[in-house]
Amino acid sequence: MKNIALLGSTGSIGKNTLEVVRNNPDKLRIISLTAGKNWQLLAEQAREFKPKFVALADTKYENDLKQALKDTNIKVGVGEEAVIEAVTISGVDTVLAAIVGAAGLKPAWEAINQKHLICLANKETLVVAGELVMNAVKKNGIKLVPVDSEHSAIFQCLQGAEKTPLHRIIITASGGPFRTMPKEDLGKVTVEQALKHPNWNMGGKITIDSATLMNKGLEVIEAHWLFDATYDQIDIVVHPQSLIHSLVEYSDGSVIAQLGWPDMKLPIQYALTWPERWNPPLPKFDLVKAASMTFFEPRYDDFPCLKLAFKAGRAGGIMPCVMNAANEIAVASFMQKKIGFMQIPEVISNTIDTFKNESVKSIDQLIELDAKSRQEAEEQVKKYNTFN
Ligand code: NDP
Repeated sequence: MKNIALLGSTGSIGKNTLEVVRNNPDKLRIISLTAGKNWQLLAEQAREFKPKFVALADTKYENDLKQALKDTNIKVGVGEEAVIEAVTISGVDTVLAAIVGAAGLKPAWEAINQKHLICLANKETLVVAGELVMNAVKKNGIKLVPVDSEHSAIFQCLQGAEKTPLHRIIITASGGPFRTMPKEDLGKVTVEQALKHPNWNMGGKITIDSATLMNKGLEVIEAHWLFDATYDQIDIVVHPQSLIHSLVEYSDGSVIAQLGWPDMKLPIQYALTWPERWNPPLPKFDLVKAASMTFFEPRYDDFPCLKLAFKAGRAGGIMPCVMNAANEIAVASFMQKKIGFMQIPEVISNTIDTFKNESVKSIDQLIELDAKSRQEAEEQVKKYNTFN
């Protein structure tokens, strides 16, 4: 029995995780749940899964959540500290980290310090603090299993080959909704168009990141830390059908791929069950139904976010943290129609240019830097006229 603290239970990954738990009640138990604002869904989930503790980051809805659960014996907490507390509740041994953005860093850090098994969906944690996180994972002798489908694929391709030299990681990318759109039209895309991902049903921020290709950039940095790969060992291939989730090339030229339907329940279940494999959470994979698989070079020049991420990753130090914060602000500003689609990479690049690189020393330093970078990115956003 795995006893889970599910961080971000009301999101896309959170809901898929609860579906996996629902299908395996004899093996998976929810001990705590957390959300940002959505107290109604959190209360509904709490009634079904009966955790010991629920936490809501937004303190505004404290009374609503308490009222909704007043006839239960579930403890309710609110605020950032309560979300962190969710990983410290007695009985928790596994944390599924699915908060979106750098807001997920502190709870994930606490989970590592508690020596839990970490199933990590929140890629921003590794982008912002990859070195500190991986060192702490090693020091505490715990396991961090990726949930992101590409990293789950790489992790699966590496099973049993820990001592075989890794030559190359090939991360696949769907290419997003604007894969074939001419460059001159990219500046005109709307929020509604950007929120329509061709293959995956995900939260808003990651869907926009997929459209700009920043999501792939964040995944490159994530892969660098997870698999101890240099940036020269990581390649991106656009594969619009999202059936091959990523590949590993070994030193003899053999390439191992992991395939499956594009549905997050599979990588979520694998992270929770690793090294075991349980009953499939999806219909059987069918190559004939899958029909065709095609592959293309990414359009690096037309989607500058991917290059920005490689550059920040290679620079190391505080640069990925600055880039991530600037991206979060730029994406939120695009969604609020304050800037256009192609101004997202401009805001990120201009924000990065105002910072001088330095080495990473502590989580507190990164949290302070994240706040400063957000402020700077907000200033950069103000330089554009209101879009629309
Ligand atoms: P969603 O936006 O759907 O969900 C985010 C979750 O985080 C919600 O539960 C939300 O609560 C909560 N949350 C938001 N802000 C805060 C905050 N400040 N403090 C605490 N909780 C907060 O995101 P996704 O599920 O799509 O993605 C989650 C993470 O997983 C991201 O890092 C993403 O990159 C990664 N990921 C997602 C994939 C997917 O298929 N969706 C695939 C691979 C990785 P509320 O609902 O109340 O706002």
